[in-house]
Amino acid sequence: MQNFAKSPYETLAALVAVHHPWIGDDAVFNSCAETIRVLWPSSSNIRQNALMHILLVEDDLDLGRALHAAMRMEGLTVEWLRRANDAPLRLNDGVVSCAIVDLGLPDGDGMDLLKRWRGLGSLVPVIVITARTDLQNRLAGLDGGADDFLVKPFDPVELTSRIRAVTRRYARQATQVWRAGALELEPRSHVVRVHGKQVDLSPREFCLLLELAREPGSVVPKGLLAQRLEPLGEPIEFSALEVHLSNLRRKIGPERIRTVRGVGYLLHA
Ligand code: CA
Repeated sequence: MQNFAKSPYETLAALVAVHHPWIGDDAVFNSCAETIRVLWPSSSNIRQNALMHILLVEDDLDLGRALHAAMRMEGLTVEWLRRANDAPLRLNDGVVSCAIVDLGLPDGDGMDLLKRWRGLGSLVPVIVITARTDLQNRLAGLDGGADDFLVKPFDPVELTSRIRAVTRRYARQATQVWRAGALELEPRSHVVRVHGKQVDLSPREFCLLLELAREPGSVVPKGLLAQRLEPLGEPIEFSALEVHLSNLRRKIGPERIRTVRGVGYLLHA
């Protein structure tokens, strides 16, 4: 036992190396992780990481294997999917801690997954990995709701450090409450209150309110709102958008959302 390396990470690496032929075997990996836990009861990082569920969507087998191994070395629980169609329709905030999405997937674009998840109101951190190095695509991705970007090739260790950064930021948001007058909105738990009283909103109504509440007092263009609702199904018509807005107004108070004719809508600060 005195031959073990000093840090939990190094020890885990040493143990995994011993079991190298079975590195893909969950039972072997878990037994290594358990050994670490017993030897280093203070290795709280690894214990904490074990609670984190990472969704990896990457079709490149070599890169996928390397990322999968690097994340598991950190004690993270990783679900690795190769196709866009295998990805969940919704990104459940209670289940997934962070999603890593490649843009070039064999059956679609990772950016469409991202737009769909954000359109359904998920705030789970998403890190986009891409081989497209041009600045335009990177900026478009950040506008589409990515929390971070990694351009291939990159060191897998860099990815785990980015995961830590975005999940820490997200955890801080967990307790965050957005306020606009008497209206309170908790982005992560989807709770909305008016004068302290909880209001039940449909996913589309919540999504609209979330967009408007990002910057109370500023006009949000109609087209942007319609676009945000699009990933929920068929592209949404302006007439349908107005129906959702009118339902939202009825629930939170009609005076809170102002129509700016020909431009869009504004949530009163
Ligand atoms: Ca790819």
